[in-house]
Amino acid sequence: MKKKTVLVANECKETLDSLHRLFLQEGFDVILEDNGIDTVRKVMSLLPEIVVLSDTLPLMSGYHVCRFLKNNLTTKSIFVIVLISGSNPQKKCIDLNNCFSCVALNDGDQERIVAEVKHKFKESVFVREDDKVLNEITSVGVEDVIAGLNNILDKKSSEVYMFRALTGLVQNVFSSDDLALAVLDIFQEIINYSVAIIVVVEERESNMVMHLHNDVSREEFTRIKESSIANFKNTLRGFRGTKLHINVLGENNVIDNNDSLNISNPEEIVYSRILDNAILKKGFVIYGNSTCKLDKSHHDLIDDVINEACVIIETSWLYNRLYKNVKNLAITDSLTNIYNHKYILRLVHQEFSRSKRYNHPISVIMFDVDHFKKINDNYGHQIGDEVLKEIGSLTSSTKRNSDEVGRYGGEEFLILLPETDSKEALLFANRLRKTIEEYTLFSMSRSLKITVSMGVATCPSKNVNGAHTFIKCADMALYQAKEQGRNRVCVFSGEF
Ligand code: GH3
Ligand code: MG
Ligand code: MG
Repeated sequence: MKKKTVLVANECKETLDSLHRLFLQEGFDVILEDNGIDTVRKVMSLLPEIVVLSDTLPLMSGYHVCRFLKNNLTTKSIFVIVLISGSNPQKKCIDLNNCFSCVALNDGDQERIVAEVKHKFKESVFVREDDKVLNEITSVGVEDVIAGLNNILDKKSSEVYMFRALTGLVQNVFSSDDLALAVLDIFQEIINYSVAIIVVVEERESNMVMHLHNDVSREEFTRIKESSIANFKNTLRGFRGTKLHINVLGENNVIDNNDSLNISNPEEIVYSRILDNAILKKGFVIYGNSTCKLDKSHHDLIDDVINEACVIIETSWLYNRLYKNVKNLAITDSLTNIYNHKYILRLVHQEFSRSKRYNHPISVIMFDVDHFKKINDNYGHQIGDEVLKEIGSLTSSTKRNSDEVGRYGGEEFLILLPETDSKEALLFANRLRKTIEEYTLFSMSRSLKITVSMGVATCPSKNVNGAHTFIKCADMALYQAKEQGRNRVCVFSGEF
């Protein structure tokens, strides 16, 4: 059987001699080197089965040699042992974890180094079938080695830049569109795509960001859009049932057919990935024409960028959801699900200041359930609670979107009507009062009718110069409505 070859590279003559001797004793062919650049050149031309490197080789460190060999197709499967001399834990991590066949050993223990090599041969994972002919030198110049290393370093620095750009986003990204844009920017740095699409499926909606980087014909644009939607419908759970928002970036790159511009070959999918098992479902598709080729390293890099981006998309989504939930809890009345006392008051204060500044009308309605004590006494507190809940929901569904309602006290409610004069407020109040009057609450085989009394106040009004007084006016009108017999609306007369 043919002898296996070990290349030993070490700047220390004694270590080199000693390893040489040990490997010869074990029956290996041994090649010796004392600097990094010549090590790479020798490995490239002689293709030994194993390389044992010192990390502190002159001209090119053992780590760079290792990187070089692992990034080169012909040498990437060669087993490399890096001998670590100092205590630099950061360096230890470099690439070693990512290398399929690479270990780090301490420089001092030479017997172990040889044992490790023998062990690896026993596993025979890296013994090549085609027994190569030694001394079949293909010459590799120093410039080739340096150019290759520069390429690797360039690639690594641009990767670091991309991932930094991505992780930097976590601090200020609150919309999936923004994040999609940032990810698309990075895709464009990796590959000159024509169209890239990112879809994120949220609870009720799906956001599709489509970026047209190069010119595409309108027909091609429509085809890509429609087929992507169909594809996501088939592959992304939840996509079908959600409302779809489409955000097209670079739409000016769509070329209408009557334009004389010559558009190149049809666009084809060059990359596609669906993540359906995450918290948020996501889809990524990249289209390119024949000039856009994606090799394995680009593919891997896009995969890595997507993995990172997904973590950020999900973190930002969870953060937003948590923030919304906490905010809602703080401003919502838990029984009626409308705003609580504190928050409706705050809204009235805000709107009052605004209407005062612009001299716009604003109204508030204070209303109170009639004889609510009797409802509690006759039907029990639980039914009383249900009445309050129903009133909250009837009010919410009757009011305009721009109006706000809150639970002011036990069975008192406050409605804020911005941009609403006294006449409109009175109309609305009577409509709501009638809606409540006509409503029948059925509970535990009993039916129950409810009425409310209402007080309306509108500004601008003389004597009213603060939100507090404004609410008091509505309260006084409510008192009047109670006095006049209940189930009615009174408008504040302007007199205290
Ligand atoms: P009026 O027509 O004059 O408003 O009479 P009323 O009985 O509605 O007024 P009163 O102020 O005497 O009684 C209000 C009752 O509302 C007393 C209180 O026990 C009840 N109440 C306040 N908050 C709640 C609540 O959250 N749930 C229930 N079930 N009852 C409540
Ligand atoms: Mg009351
Ligand atoms: Mg009452």
